[in-house]
Amino acid sequence: CGIVGYVGAKPAAPILVDGLARLEYRGYDSAGVAVLGPSEIRLHRDAVRVRELEASLPKRFGGKVGIGHTRWATHGVPSQRNAHPQLSADGRVAVVHNGIIDNAAQLRAELTADGVELSSDTDTEVLAHLISRARTSNGSLEDAVLATLDRIEGTYGLAVLDQAHPDRIVVARNGSPIIIGIGDREMHVASDTAALVRYTRQVVHLDDGELATLRADGYQTFTRNARTTKTAVTVDWDAS
Ligand code: GLU
Repeated sequence: CGIVGYVGAKPAAPILVDGLARLEYRGYDSAGVAVLGPSEIRLHRDAVRVRELEASLPKRFGGKVGIGHTRWATHGVPSQRNAHPQLSADGRVAVVHNGIIDNAAQLRAELTADGVELSSDTDTEVLAHLISRARTSNGSLEDAVLATLDRIEGTYGLAVLDQAHPDRIVVARNGSPIIIGIGDREMHVASDTAALVRYTRQVVHLDDGELATLRADGYQTFTRNARTTKTAVTVDWDAS
């Protein structure tokens, strides 16, 4: 239902939780965040309100790159294990997703036949496994996401964290909004400008079929075939 992401010099978790609170008006049944720690992805998620998620955040939840989600369940009941972010089996890739993967049942069956232990009932989880498996030790995260999206039928706005590429978030859009917020030596992303306006008024809307890499010092948008050039627009919003 709602997506947020941050990459910069500040602790990510408070910024992510604040963004999720600003998306609450859209409705949700679960909430969660993941940040990149020094050697592992830290995950905190449950079928709870955002304020409860915040109150129960572990003390050690540092990390300057992270993603967050408010879920409106389509595949799998609202529960901790079905909340996003969803992790790959090795715990090194985390994904938040809005939308529906139509061929998830088939992809789940293929992954299971390949020995992958699925840990949720969501359609989203297959994205984390497929991205993790597509990425070789020195391959690019962007190529792994593209290869995965080639296998997906359905709609998505998504954001991906990868322990092997700790300087970035990769996002993609097909039918579900993704908006980049351009900060001062930091980048934000969200599915709704309501989560961005506290931090920046300069935003870039991804088009369907477009992806982006966000780093603290800038962003690059692209499609399967080429880099794209975007014009930032100024949001006119009275953020109280
Ligand atoms: N289809 C996904 C799920 O049920 C995402 C739902 C959403 O957009 O929040 O987990």
